[in-house]
Amino acid sequence: MPDKFDLLRDIFGHAQFRPGQEPIVDALTEGRDVLAVMPTGGGKSVCYQIPALILPGVTLVVSPLISLMKDQVQALVQNGVRAAYLNSTLTAGQYGKVLANMRAGVYKIIYVAPERLGTDAFRETVASMDVSLVAVDEAHCVSGWGQDFRPAYLGIRDFVESLPRRPVVGAFTATATERVRRDIEDLLGLADPFRIVTGFDRPNLYFEVIQTTKSTKDYELRRLLRKRYADRSGIVYCGTRNTVDEVAEKLRLAGYAATGYHAGMSDEDRHAAQEDFLYDRCRVMVATNAFGMGIDKSNVSFVIHYNMPKDVESYYQEAGRAGRDGEPADCVLLWSESDIILDRFLIEKNEENPELDPEDAERLKRLEYERLDRMSDYCRSTDCLRARLLRYFGTEPDKERCGNCSNCNGDFETRDVTVDAQKILSCIARTNNRFGGSTIAAVLRGSMNPQIERYGLDSLSTYGIMRGRDEREIRSLIDELRLQGYLSVDPDSIYKIPALTPKARNVLLGRETVTMRFRRGNPQPADAKKASKRSKTAAPAGDGTLLGHLKAERLKLAREMGLPAYVIFTDAALVDMCRVMPGDMDEFLTVSGVGKKKAERYGERFLAVIRKHRVDK
Ligand code: ADP
Ligand code: ZN
Repeated sequence: MPDKFDLLRDIFGHAQFRPGQEPIVDALTEGRDVLAVMPTGGGKSVCYQIPALILPGVTLVVSPLISLMKDQVQALVQNGVRAAYLNSTLTAGQYGKVLANMRAGVYKIIYVAPERLGTDAFRETVASMDVSLVAVDEAHCVSGWGQDFRPAYLGIRDFVESLPRRPVVGAFTATATERVRRDIEDLLGLADPFRIVTGFDRPNLYFEVIQTTKSTKDYELRRLLRKRYADRSGIVYCGTRNTVDEVAEKLRLAGYAATGYHAGMSDEDRHAAQEDFLYDRCRVMVATNAFGMGIDKSNVSFVIHYNMPKDVESYYQEAGRAGRDGEPADCVLLWSESDIILDRFLIEKNEENPELDPEDAERLKRLEYERLDRMSDYCRSTDCLRARLLRYFGTEPDKERCGNCSNCNGDFETRDVTVDAQKILSCIARTNNRFGGSTIAAVLRGSMNPQIERYGLDSLSTYGIMRGRDEREIRSLIDELRLQGYLSVDPDSIYKIPALTPKARNVLLGRETVTMRFRRGNPQPADAKKASKRSKTAAPAGDGTLLGHLKAERLKLAREMGLPAYVIFTDAALVDMCRVMPGDMDEFLTVSGVGKKKAERYGERFLAVIRKHRVDK
C-alpha cells in the first residue's frame, strides 16, 4: 500500500502536511466519512487525492464548477495521476470515450458534475466499477441556507446509496455556519463523520479597507493597479453586471489588460474571458461574484472589491481567492456609503422568492440585514481587520493586532471624544430611543426635517448643541458608540433605532471617558518589510533576475504544452527554486511543489536555466 508521506512528496512535491490534512487523509483511508471545513486555499484537494491513490478502487470527485475540474485534472495528469472529468463541456464522443475508459479501469480519479450522477449512462458504467471514495467538493451547495444552493447536490446521497457497496464519503467546504454544516451531514447522509474545522486565518493575506465616494473609486482603483500592482494578476469584484461592464471598459480605455465576467454574458464570452485570465493574457479580471468559485488560479496577487459585498461570508470567500499559492497577496476593499444603499436595494428586490411563505421571507430578509450590518462594521472599524474576520467565523485570533492589515499598520491617533459622546447619548435618551441616526444627527446639528417638525424635536435641550459639525462625523460617532457597546440596536428591527445600554450611564455621569481612533491621512500599505516580501514574486518574466528567467522558461513551456503556466509550476515553486538553487535532479526534487513526475518532465529545462544564471553571474 502506498505511504501517504511518499505520495505527498513524490506526487505533489510537498514536504509536509498542512494543518488538518493528515487526520483527514487518515480518516478517509480508514473508511470513515469526513466533514471538513477548510478555508479557500487551505489545501483541500490533497485531502481526498491522497486517499484516492491509497484506496484500492476509484474515487469520484463531485464538483460544481467546470473550470475547476479541467484545471485539477490537468494538474493531476501533470503529476502522473490517471484522471479524467465528465461534464457538459465534453462532446458526446469525448464523453463516451471517458465512460469506456472508466469501464476499462484506466482512471484512478474522476471529476464529475453533480448533474451527471443521475444519468443512466453514468450509473450503468459506475455499477460495474469499484468505487472506494466519493469526495464532495463545495459541499455547502447541498444546503438551501447557503448562497450557492445547487439542487443537483440533493441527488448525491441517493447516488451513493445506489452503489453496490457504499463508498466512504468526504465532504469539503469553506463555508462554516452551524446550520449549513448540519445540512451537509443530513443531506449527504454522512455516517458518524470525522468532523474537522481547520484554521480560518490566511496569514499571507494583507487586508485593507479604503473609504471612497462614488466619484473617487475609479481613481483609487487605478492608483492601486498602477502603483502597487503593476504587472501583477488579480481580480476586481463589482456589485452588479453593469458595474462590471463599465469598470472593465474604463480600465481597457486606460490601457490595462482587463477583461470582464458576469452571468449576463454568453457562455462563449465568459469562457473566453476566463481563459484569458487563467492563461495570463489578461492580468485584471473584472467580475461579479459569479466568477471564481472553484477557480484554481494560484498566482492571484490581489483581490480588490470595487463595491462592498453584502456579507462577510461572501467577502472572505471572494477575497480568499488571492494568494492561494501561499505567497503574500492583498485584499483591498473600496467601499462607500452608496454601496450600503445598493446592498439594501438588492436585499429588498430579492424578496419576491415565490417558494418562501411570507413569514420565512421576512425572517430571511432580517438575517440579510443583520449580515449587511456586520459587513459595514468591518468597513468602519478601526481595530484589527483580521481579528474581526476570525471572530466572525467563530475563531479567537491568537493576537489582538495582526500587524498585517491596514488598521494595524495604519497611522491613527486616539482622541478623547467624551464630551461629544455625552451630547449624543443624552440626545438619544431625551428622544426615548424612538429615532434613527440621521434624525439624531439632525437634532444635534440644529437642522430642520419633517420628523423634527412633526415631533417638535427642536424644543429639546439638546437641539443644536453640535451646530456646525459635519453630519457624517456625527453619524460615525454614533456608529462608534455602538461598536464600543454604549448603544445597542434592536436586531429585529430594520429601522436601526439606537438605544442606550447600561454602560452608557457611566459616560453620562462623567465616570467613564470615551476614546476613538481616527485615521491620519490615507491608510498606509503594508510596512516596508512586507512590501519587499510582496514584491518577491513580482518579477516579470525576463527581467534579468533568476526568478524572471524561470518565469520566462515556464511561459515558454506553457505555450508549448498548451497549459496554464501555474499548472507547470506555481509561483511559490519558482521562488523556492531561487532559494534552493538546485544543481542536479536530487536537489531539484527538494524544491517545494516539485514532485517526481514534474521533475522528470521539466527538471532539465529549469536546471539549465539555473546553471546558465550561475555562469552569467
Ligand atoms: P483549496 O481547494 O482548499 O482551496 P487547494 O487544494 O487548491 O486549496 O490548495 C491550494 C494551494 O496549496 C495549492 O497551490 C497547493 O499546491 C498548495 N498546497 C496544498 N497542500 C500543501 C502542502 N501540504 N504543502 C504546501 N503546499 C500545499
Ligand atoms: Zn490587523
